[in-house]
Amino acid sequence: MKGTEISDAHAGARQPALICVFDIDGVLADVAHRLVHLASTPKNWDAFFAAAADDTVLSDGLTAVKAAQEREEAIIYLSGRPERLRRVTTLWLAAGGFPAAPVHLRPDRDRRPARLFKPEVLARLGGPAAISAVYDDDDAVVQALRAQGYPVTHVTWANSAQALIGVLQDAQETTGRT
Ligand SMILES: [Mg+2]
Repeated sequence: MKGTEISDAHAGARQPALICVFDIDGVLADVAHRLVHLASTPKNWDAFFAAAADDTVLSDGLTAVKAAQEREEAIIYLSGRPERLRRVTTLWLAAGGFPAAPVHLRPDRDRRPARLFKPEVLARLGGPAAISAVYDDDDAVVQALRAQGYPVTHVTWANSAQALIGVLQDAQETTGRT
């Protein structure tokens, strides 16, 4: 009956907060101004990443993060940006008014597409049962996560740059560099 005792002892315990997961590029950050660096041949990844500090905030993204915060969910930022962009990313989030929260970035030598990298991180965070929502703009990521049972909000609010966003998604899918 030990199991019963344990569950009784925890009957009044607060449930752990659900986690609300936010992609950054195309969800919180408007990257349209730097996608030109990926439209060239060869793609200029250094220039693309170097310009990340100058992204403008997507107001719909900020509103969604604040709403999750008001629901007392745990915020996680999950981006396919390489780990070496951690400092510029955390500074940008703070300057943009986003709440401080864990930032998960792609290991520098991990060249897999985001549709493989992101589910692995989410599984470590507890899988679909632990997640209230995942906000992402990448079709391939959205499909992969939905197939695994995650509640995904497919973000399209950066669609003024939709054609260019397609360039980024294509680049992520074929080279796994972002
Ligand atoms: Mg994105």
